[in-house]
Amino acid sequence: MGLWSARSVTMPTTWIALDDTDSYEGGCTTWVAYQTIKKFALSLADFPALIRLNPEIPWKTRGNGAVLIIANKCSTDDENIARFILSEAQFGGKTSPGVFITGDKPIGTMWRRALTDVVTPRVLQLELKNLEGRPFCRNGHARGLIGAISAAEHVWDDFTFELISYRETDLPRVEEPRGVLWMDSLTSPLTFLNYDRKANKPLIYPSGPDPVWFGIRGEDPLLLIGAYHLVSNYPENPWMVFKTNQGTNEHIVEKPSIMDAHPYTTVKLTASVEDQPRMIQGGHLLVKLTDLQGNTFEAIAYRQTGELVKKAALLRRGDRIQVWGAIQPKIEKAMNLQGLLFIAGNALERKAPWCPICGHVMEKKGQHEYRCKPCGTTAHDEQTEVIPRPKPESEFLPSASAFKHLMKPYRRRKLDIHYEFNEDAYEGPSKMLNK
Ligand SMILES: [Zn+2]
Repeated sequence: MGLWSARSVTMPTTWIALDDTDSYEGGCTTWVAYQTIKKFALSLADFPALIRLNPEIPWKTRGNGAVLIIANKCSTDDENIARFILSEAQFGGKTSPGVFITGDKPIGTMWRRALTDVVTPRVLQLELKNLEGRPFCRNGHARGLIGAISAAEHVWDDFTFELISYRETDLPRVEEPRGVLWMDSLTSPLTFLNYDRKANKPLIYPSGPDPVWFGIRGEDPLLLIGAYHLVSNYPENPWMVFKTNQGTNEHIVEKPSIMDAHPYTTVKLTASVEDQPRMIQGGHLLVKLTDLQGNTFEAIAYRQTGELVKKAALLRRGDRIQVWGAIQPKIEKAMNLQGLLFIAGNALERKAPWCPICGHVMEKKGQHEYRCKPCGTTAHDEQTEVIPRPKPESEFLPSASAFKHLMKPYRRRKLDIHYEFNEDAYEGPSKMLNK
């Protein structure tokens, strides 16, 4: 519980968690949550929460996000609420909506696995046995329950907020790129991933058929409401502020060795660069690395990650770095690079020496033996050149448009200590949505 927890601690609450109510054809779990709050006139006891889970899950619909509503206990029967949510869910593709309703925070451990790994139906069944609360799903497919329960169990560490505004799906999405750029300038660094200045395009608008008009992410809910009015000329449009784990890197697990990492997880490893990075067909970059236990693996920076490819291409044999990324299911011991931290660089390059007599570059003749072709002078020592390297602790991340929800952007890293917003400034959760 975050804000208002002190105010609502004595009041009985209803925890309504939902997941997988969207499909490729449309819909959005946050929109179903908004409609649920409206339909049952729920009085919120805390921010609605948008919890992003493992982005590498192959059967996710789009963003793999589940939503939790904590409301002051209402007279509506749990079953009515669940029936409404399931009826609002979009069916199609891999959608299998799930709802979990309980009177208090469920204490469980499945959420950690759902965030960083794969949860099997068996794990879900075991978890259900140990939890108080009522699960609801449709057609017997319980996958959505994994996310719903995980959202309710989730324990906050670092967090951010997102104001999501909604639209009529039969109308085209109105975009205001200049307004977004203006808003970004005014609210930086307390909002993030609004605008990709290199590609010159706004990032707040999704491209799918879903009812989301745009989302503004940042550190402070009140600031997000201000930012909303800088971007939108439609004050009557529905919007809601969610507390989220977006932009926190919460999905990454640090491992001592590549041997401890398995597919569909995102890991962080300390490694040294084994070989000069190699550009392959399609503009992707391969970097051969060795972890601290001496196991070699390959990090792949995809062309789509833009800036990350450019920076990773500067790595040199002997560099000590930290890398993080998703483990590939198809290639053995390969990581899809999401970012890297430069720890220490190999700034010395050993090269064939210049000839002291005529100035030509000498040719290698044997181990530690060089000979100048034009004049015949020989030498035994290589020359050492100092090469400019990135500063230690430099972090290299993908271009803004290649960011996934959970990845921590530069702006948040620069804030470093968590931004503390003033809880007393908020009039309560009811002001966090436009009804
Ligand atoms: Zn010479």
